[in-house]
Amino acid sequence: MSGDYKKMWESLGLDLAAHDELLDILGKGYRDIYLAQKNRPQGMGYFDFVMSEVHGLRIKELMDEKAAGKKIIGSFCVFVPEEIVLAADATLVGLCTGADFAMEEVENYLPRNTCALIKSAFGFKLGKVCPYLESANMIVGENTCDGKKKAYETLNNLVPNLYVMDLPQFKSPEGKNLLKTEYWRFKNAVEELTGVIIDTQRLLKGIEIVNNKRKAIHRLSALRKAVPAPVSGLDALLANQVFFYDNPVRFTGSVNKICDELEKRIQNRAGAFSEKMPRILISGCPMAVPNWKLPWIIETSGAVIVGEESCVGERGTRNLTNNTGSTVEEVMEAVIDRYFKIDCAIFTPNPDRLDHIVEMSEAYKADGVILYGLQFCQPYLMESMPVEKALEEKNIPVLRIDTDYSMEDIGQLKTRVEAFIELIK
Ligand code: SF4
Ligand code: SF4
Repeated sequence: MSGDYKKMWESLGLDLAAHDELLDILGKGYRDIYLAQKNRPQGMGYFDFVMSEVHGLRIKELMDEKAAGKKIIGSFCVFVPEEIVLAADATLVGLCTGADFAMEEVENYLPRNTCALIKSAFGFKLGKVCPYLESANMIVGENTCDGKKKAYETLNNLVPNLYVMDLPQFKSPEGKNLLKTEYWRFKNAVEELTGVIIDTQRLLKGIEIVNNKRKAIHRLSALRKAVPAPVSGLDALLANQVFFYDNPVRFTGSVNKICDELEKRIQNRAGAFSEKMPRILISGCPMAVPNWKLPWIIETSGAVIVGEESCVGERGTRNLTNNTGSTVEEVMEAVIDRYFKIDCAIFTPNPDRLDHIVEMSEAYKADGVILYGLQFCQPYLMESMPVEKALEEKNIPVLRIDTDYSMEDIGQLKTRVEAFIELIK
């Protein structure tokens, strides 16, 4: 990234030295993990460019949007409906929670046994290294797990613009009513922030843009069902991660271009992988940029990842939003219907998730499932135990991993992953 952005970063209040340090780590990780892969689709060049400019050009675009009077809304969770944000001509960006930063300072605010994702959000704020967080006009926190819920009380003292959205934990009519109340409240808050009244047409336009983005990802996922796999899990994960940052229309076009290329690869049986390679489904906690540790271990141990049952993956993009409503109430109801289907482990009970893991494992012809949980993440770690048992009863090989963002357990993880791959070969 060029030095031309220094002024912009300074104006956002970033700590330039710490920020340089972060960019160095990110750049090195990207080179070692992504650019070291062989036989990547040419279309991934777009994502290489996006990543090389993730704190540069994309932030400049956001600043230009702001200068033109638009608003930026930051989010930590797939429950924040992008349709509503786009309907008000605002932009939704995911806030990075995939790396440790300023950990000593973080532990002045959060107990040590907090999941890495929450700590990361605080680290990026306290370390003053996230231009997305600093450029956002509104940051949306959501009452999902207890960790996040309580952490937002503290984050509220660190940022001036936190908006907290309550979320249900039961898939009941009462639960759905809560989501409805909260999405209408969010719509009002977005209208107030932007000065735009969200009418039916605006909402339908927002739905169209987000659905197109989801359809492109669905197309990419469907192509990964091919044997041999036409693309690495790392590259597919990157597309799913960039989903949260990029201009949505440009993102859709770029993913579709890769899909055109992958279709040709499949026709010519020219995938990057051998037919004999074990195929893995990953399931569990979201993997935010730049959390590539486990996929990298798996794909450098002789297997290929063919799907992600994750919020940065199929759980986050699974359903389209119905676009046939003709009043704002009907269209809002469609938005609520779509999001209420998300099978996050914060719901109790959460049987749909197990069904989806089994369905995905069959559809993607996975030879085994790796259940990925972040240390101290109670919802996913607790859920992983009955899920493991149920998968074993169905004779689906499964490996349960719990880890964090540090590199200390790489050797131990690699040994376990290699043994699992050997077992399912
Ligand atoms: S796992 Fe749950 S809390 Fe986390 S991003 Fe997904 S829906 Fe939100
Ligand atoms: S990974 Fe688990 S503990 Fe961490 S924010 Fe997500 S649901 Fe909460």
